[in-house]
Amino acid sequence: MKAHIVVIGGGASGLIAAIRLKQLNANVTLIERNNKLGKKILATGNGRCNFTNVLATEQDYNRPNFVKETFDQFGVKDTISFFESLGIIPKTEELGKTYPLSEQASSMTDVLIYEVKRLGVNLLLETSVIDIKKGKTFSLKLSSGKTMEADKVILSTGGKAMPLSGSDGSGYQLATNLGHHMTDIFPALVKLELESPHLKHMDGVKFKGEATLIHNNHILQVEQGDILFTKYGISGPTILQLSRKANALLLDYQTIFIKVQLINGIDEKRVMDRFLMLERKTIEDGLVGLIHKKLIKSVLKEVGIFEHTLIKDIPNKQLNKLVKLLFDWRFKVIGSKDFDDAQVTAGGIVVEEINPKTLESNLVRGLYFTGEIIDIDGLCGGYNLQWAWSSGYVAATHAGGLND
Ligand SMILES: Cc1cc2nc3c(=O)[nH]c(=O)nc-3n(C[C@H](O)[C@H](O)[C@H](O)COP(=O)(O)OP(=O)(O)OC[C@H]3O[C@@H](n4cnc5c(N)ncnc54)[C@H](O)[C@@H]3O)c2cc1C
Repeated sequence: MKAHIVVIGGGASGLIAAIRLKQLNANVTLIERNNKLGKKILATGNGRCNFTNVLATEQDYNRPNFVKETFDQFGVKDTISFFESLGIIPKTEELGKTYPLSEQASSMTDVLIYEVKRLGVNLLLETSVIDIKKGKTFSLKLSSGKTMEADKVILSTGGKAMPLSGSDGSGYQLATNLGHHMTDIFPALVKLELESPHLKHMDGVKFKGEATLIHNNHILQVEQGDILFTKYGISGPTILQLSRKANALLLDYQTIFIKVQLINGIDEKRVMDRFLMLERKTIEDGLVGLIHKKLIKSVLKEVGIFEHTLIKDIPNKQLNKLVKLLFDWRFKVIGSKDFDDAQVTAGGIVVEEINPKTLESNLVRGLYFTGEIIDIDGLCGGYNLQWAWSSGYVAATHAGGLND
């Protein structure tokens, strides 16, 4: 009789795993707690699903050596070919970000679900796996009260980010009950909270600028692009990219700052020359056209210049201070939004307990891990879904009996 392989979790990595197993002619059951598959995929890429990044390499993840073993077997090109075979035409935008041509995340779930059904995967929806015991086979306790036996199990339950999508971290419990260990986990690709009296006034201001993460006066990471001030802090793609390092340091009780450069494309001298040219204006009027209007009052308060002061009456020292601030405004980071708002979970099941070639547990034979439940996370821009596709495909290839 064919081995019965159960995939727990019908998200990105579980869906591709189930399809791959069926391609290998395995007897597969896919268990998903929601009433539909791929719920989180629908929310990705602002509803457009940034499903991979053509520039992605293992270096873009927290554990490059581990990821490399998987990417060598099923990387970005393989992923694009896989989805092309399902009918998805890729459209690559700036920084390698790749979307379906339709620009609809639902295209991705539609083709995956179509394939799962076409291949005849046994589907069990609205069912959570509550516990797993390993004897001769795996015994899965289900929320329906029933028990299911499996010869192999692929744990594709995701992390803790966006728990409303179904991935609420229950997979960690399933794994630790089987003897696995996990690292600390924290939200990543997430908005940051800042300490500043100006946030209320700057709420909603969006601009293209540069954000730098600073620790002990050292530059840790620099990102350029859209930045958004909010009433609690700061957001935008640049900030999400900085957030992983920021949160790791906060977890370690370190003091960190985000340096924001409000002006790009011209240097400090040009700004100073401009002020001198406009010396008959008030400083408030002199800042118009240079920075977002909603920032003017806050910037002036920060350097202690009264807004109606004529530029020609401002002492040089203070004018220099203002110019410096426009290029280097530092905010203390005091926290981040939580898992509800995060795109990914940093941390997870420790990689030393997983064979990087097969993604099989080193502790429990026949148990495999895919996606975000593992202590792997990547940059914002298609990297985390790429890890989900690669790990799902590779785990299934080995669980399904090939390449062992
Ligand atoms: C808002 C948002 C936007 C994002 N945008 C992007 C993007 O554009 N590009 C990108 O690369 N990444 C993006 N990500 C990250 C990406 O979606 C995830 O990294 C990826 O989906 C993880 O795949 P996974 O298979 O590990 O887990 P998930 O996709 O989270 O799937 C896990 C599944 O397991 C189910 N499950 C959990 N526990 C159980 C249980 N005990 N029993 C049964 N079922 C269970 C859950 O219901 C869920 O369906 C985004 C994330 C969010 C939250």
